[in-house]
Amino acid sequence: APPVLAIVGRPNVGKSTLVNRILGRREAVVEDVPGVTRDRVSYSAFWGGRKITLVDTGGWDIDVNGMASRIADQAEIAIDLADAVLFVVDSTTGPTATDEHVVRMLRRSKKPVILVANKVDDERGELQAAELWSLGLGEPHPVSAMHGRGVADLLDVALETL
Ligand code: GDP
Ligand code: MG
Repeated sequence: APPVLAIVGRPNVGKSTLVNRILGRREAVVEDVPGVTRDRVSYSAFWGGRKITLVDTGGWDIDVNGMASRIADQAEIAIDLADAVLFVVDSTTGPTATDEHVVRMLRRSKKPVILVANKVDDERGELQAAELWSLGLGEPHPVSAMHGRGVADLLDVALETL
C-alpha cells in the first residue's frame, strides 16, 4: 500500500485547501465555516512519481467546556494510521492553545511531523511563519495552499520522511 500522509490541524487553517492543491483538483470540501470535514477522507495522489494516500481530517475544536470535540477522535485515528503527519497551522493567527494541545498529542504519537505554516500568501507572511518555531516542532514550512506558494517544496520534504 502507498505511504499515508495525514493532514491535521485546527478547523479553518486550510487543510482541505492544501489537499486540493496537492490533488490538483477541487475535491476536498473547503468552507469558510470551520469543521466542515468531520470524518477522515482519503485521496490518492501522485508526487514525484510516487503514489501516496492523503488523509484529510476535520481537526480539533475546543468546546465551551474546554473539551476537544468528537471530530478530534477522527484526527487521532488518522495520525495512528499515518506514516507521517502534516500539521497545518494558520500563520496569520499564530499558535493557539488548541495548536499546543495538538503538539502534545503529536509528540505522544511519535510519528514524523512536518510543520506547515499556511496562509503565507506573500513574502511578508514569512516573518509570521517564523513565529511557529515556538511550537517546538522544528522548522515551519511556509506555504499558501490557496495560491500554491511553497507547496512543491513542502511535498518534497514530506516525501523524504516516507
Ligand atoms: P480546513 O477547515 O482546515 O480544511 O480549512 P479550509 O481548507 O476549508 O479553508 C478555510 C478557509 O481558509 C477558506 O476560506 C480558505 O479559502 C482559506 N484558506 C486556505 N488556505 C489559504 C491560504 O493559503 N491563504 C489564504 N489567504 N486563505 C486560505
Ligand atoms: Mg477541511
